[in-house]
Amino acid sequence: MTSTRTQPRRLGIMGGTFDPIHHGHLVAASEVAARYDLDEVIFVPTGRPWQKADQLVTPAEHRYLMTVVATASNPRFTVSRVDIDRAGPTYTVDTLRDLKRQYAESELFFITGADALAKIMSWKDVDEMWDLATFVGVTRPGHVLSNQGLEGVELLEIPAMAISSTDCRERVREGLPVWYLVPDGVVQHIAKHHLYSSEMPETEDPL
Ligand code: ATP
Ligand code: MG
Repeated sequence: MTSTRTQPRRLGIMGGTFDPIHHGHLVAASEVAARYDLDEVIFVPTGRPWQKADQLVTPAEHRYLMTVVATASNPRFTVSRVDIDRAGPTYTVDTLRDLKRQYAESELFFITGADALAKIMSWKDVDEMWDLATFVGVTRPGHVLSNQGLEGVELLEIPAMAISSTDCRERVREGLPVWYLVPDGVVQHIAKHHLYSSEMPETEDPL
């Protein structure tokens, strides 16, 4: 009898604050998708990122919408609400547990930039994470890429995009353009809702 079983789907997971999403995130996801032959990359905007607990972060619905706008044209890119719908601070291990439950038959690849990877050992329940996904660390200008000898963490050189969300927010605040650093629809969302200008929008802002 011939087996009708197909290969497990290969799912990339691109976690981030996405405040705002920019072309560095999109190139990272696209490059890992191509090199690892991924069927889909799920972008997962964080709820309240625990690493940024002391900083003002734009309301999740804005970050979610900008992520949807930025990924809409790519048939392999999708966006998940798991982290923004979960109460409390976001830990990557919870993201992976939730997505593993949702996509039990799929193989997961967690995509992370060099800076985030460097902090990996401080993450909650770090040992469990290796069982849930393969970690793919990608190069990022200004940061050293290393897996610190960890098995289960693979490294990939990607086209260098010297863009950060912090820099994009500062540029908007200073009246400098963010065209071509972020997708056009994200430029327009920022302008329409006056994000990053003088005051951050209220958390209750219904958009
Ligand atoms: P912030 O400046 O607010 O921290 P950021 O630009 O670092 O924003 P994050 O949302 O914090 O963006 O990053 C999400 C993920 O994308 C992290 O794994 C980060 O390392 C990675 N990443 C962000 N920008 C780049 C880039 N330019 N090249 C490669 N990876 C990136
Ligand atoms: Mg960051």
